Amino acid sequence: TQQRPFNFSAGPAALPEAVLQRVAEDMLSWRGCGMGVMEMSHRGKEFKLIADQAQRDLRQLLAVPEHFHILFMQGGALAHNAIVPMNLAQRGGSGKVDVVVSGSWSAKSAAEARKYADVQVVAQGADAQGRYTEIPSPSSWQLRRDTAYVHVCSNETIDGLEMHELPDLAALGCHAPLVVDFSSHVASRRIDWSRIGLAFGGAQKNIGPAGLTLVIVREDLLGHASATCPSALNYEAVAKAESMFNTPPTFGIYVAGLVFEWLLAQQYRGLSGLAAVEQRNIDKAALLYEALDASPLFESRVAVAARSRMNIPFFLKAQRASDALYETFLTGAQERGLLQLKGHKSAGGLRASLYNAMPIEGVQALVRYLKEFELQYG
Ligand code: PMP
Repeated sequence: TQQRPFNFSAGPAALPEAVLQRVAEDMLSWRGCGMGVMEMSHRGKEFKLIADQAQRDLRQLLAVPEHFHILFMQGGALAHNAIVPMNLAQRGGSGKVDVVVSGSWSAKSAAEARKYADVQVVAQGADAQGRYTEIPSPSSWQLRRDTAYVHVCSNETIDGLEMHELPDLAALGCHAPLVVDFSSHVASRRIDWSRIGLAFGGAQKNIGPAGLTLVIVREDLLGHASATCPSALNYEAVAKAESMFNTPPTFGIYVAGLVFEWLLAQQYRGLSGLAAVEQRNIDKAALLYEALDASPLFESRVAVAARSRMNIPFFLKAQRASDALYETFLTGAQERGLLQLKGHKSAGGLRASLYNAMPIEGVQALVRYLKEFELQYG
């Protein structure tokens, strides 16, 4: 079989090839039942098997404790920027939401939550030029005593910043739950659930097709939705109905289930499952950052401690930067089978997303191309 190109898209992003092949095999008839998964009733016995298995595998993969509900929803992370405050802001009666702005996505979360809650930005990560290169230290966060929850984005996809440790709010004297947008690094590393009240994220990076949104919520946070919260978006109602309050994104759940199975089966350097996946992600990111730090032509602008393993924006150094040289780079990348390396439109430059489905060989091929490009243009 012909090798597929390496796809560095930030999302929707590459999926494991073995998963895509299974999907193709099942397309017309899942396990010989005569129906494709898109054609099944979400309440039928076939789909129930698929959804139950996906949920069990995800719980095992991420070691989600029993007192958390796993919800398969829709809307994407942006819709949940509104749905979370509709469900949680009134808990405790203050209607207050504290948001840590560490990059472009948490800035959006703060703006959206403002429609539903009294929002305070308790830390602002942007520097004087409006760039995000460091995550404000938790000890500097100006948390309000009566806030209903604290929102963070644990991996900023556009700016390339990752929280390598989740904040311990209790140690900061704050007893509100932590809400985490983990869209772009969920399932790439282990998660400390003892620090989390609710985590949410779109599936289209590490999990499966766009359209499926994961919400993992601690039991005691349910039951506080505002009176105007749409019923289908009420986390308590969705949890009670085991994600079947209305028709869930069935095909997305099925593909995600195959991805969870694939992740559980991963082996790497003597490790298995999520630990193997995490170690491979550490090694992949190190390869690219080492090449950037040694480069006469390219640079990463993110402080070392905050560098994301998943999304690595990089730029031509100031004295060499030009639109023409970026175009030359992208054209050469495309010719070498290195796809979707253009930076986000708001950030410019380049960006390599190294999600779980990106093999080490893809990162090695990118590093070879960087070196080749430096020799020619450096
Ligand atoms: N949060 C983060 C961290 C993201 O990476 C994205 C998508 N790139 C979003 C939110 C928005 O997700 P969606 O488009 O699924 O609403």
